[in-house]
Amino acid sequence: MGIKQQSKSLLSLGSELADPDYQLQVINGQTTQKTYVKFEKNLAQSGHYPLSVKRLEIFQINLGRLCNQSCAHCHVDAGPDRREIMTKENLEICLEILRKHPSFHTVDLTGGAPEMNPHFKWFVESCAELGKKIMVRSNLTIILSNPKYHYLPAFFAQHQVEVISSLPFYSAKRTDKQRGEGVFEDSIKAIELLNQQGYGLSESGLILNLVYNPAGAFLPGNQSALEAEFKRQLARRHEIQFNHLFAITNLPINRFLDYLLTRDKYEFYMEQLLEAYNPGTLDGLMCRYMVSVSWDGYLYDCDFNQMLALKVACTSQHISHFNESELLNRAIVLGQHCYGCTAGAGSSCGGNIA
Ligand code: SF4
Ligand code: SF4
Repeated sequence: MGIKQQSKSLLSLGSELADPDYQLQVINGQTTQKTYVKFEKNLAQSGHYPLSVKRLEIFQINLGRLCNQSCAHCHVDAGPDRREIMTKENLEICLEILRKHPSFHTVDLTGGAPEMNPHFKWFVESCAELGKKIMVRSNLTIILSNPKYHYLPAFFAQHQVEVISSLPFYSAKRTDKQRGEGVFEDSIKAIELLNQQGYGLSESGLILNLVYNPAGAFLPGNQSALEAEFKRQLARRHEIQFNHLFAITNLPINRFLDYLLTRDKYEFYMEQLLEAYNPGTLDGLMCRYMVSVSWDGYLYDCDFNQMLALKVACTSQHISHFNESELLNRAIVLGQHCYGCTAGAGSSCGGNIA
């Protein structure tokens, strides 16, 4: 069964939220009466402001906004109608940075669907030759979407790629509601193919982690309990396996922000994030260990700042002027969206923090 697209990108709909500046106005309370305690103020109270970088370990690259899916809550506003793709020239600069800076032990490839970048295969092979750990944020359905992607499970296994994939729930109804009709069925088939390669099986060393994010204006439940329930249900219903489940909080940006605003749930959601603010998450915030590169080569503290066009606060803001020392000594650019990373047990690319 093919995938029935869930939503169009904000860009193609001509939504004012397609403009990152407008999103920032909303998040900063310039479009409503209601304002919230500044995130920076909370950090200052616990002596964490300005927020510093601890180490440069993860080099995250957004290979493009093109995607075969168009999920309702996509924070990238990705979809089949997006055309932004990282060029080979910029990928070569990224490789040079990775070669020169051994502290980046991990390359984290994201999108859109990163596999749709025409240089994906070459780039993964090149990173593997450098001895880097490679993580690919794969939506799973890409594997079945076209015969030209059928090579992926064996290719991932060959290069020991860690696969991280969204699966909002262990039932078709709830998954398809968020990601599009037919996504659950194709995701299960893709996991079966990955399991056949050894992914998710103990002792194989091939890691398949799943990502859960809430389907509405609420925070994720307990990560360990969710993981146990997903493992039990997916094994019982479909005989498939995975390693870990990451419970991720939706940040109020892009299509999730649109969802909150159109359903009049924005204030309710922000209040939940603020109430759940947990300073215990600050040491582990992912922005303290990474840089995130956009499809056109600009540098950001994280994927979320990238979507809000908040570049790193230093003079070297593009990969062509990469400066390790400046990036290590930068203050991280913060905003009200950061409450999404510090709520409850915290949220990062790898799930809970605290
Ligand atoms: S698969 Fe990922 S990148 Fe693609 S539309 Fe869905 S959430 Fe966005
Ligand atoms: S959104 Fe999260 S990861 Fe990004 S800068 Fe804010 S706290 Fe850090």
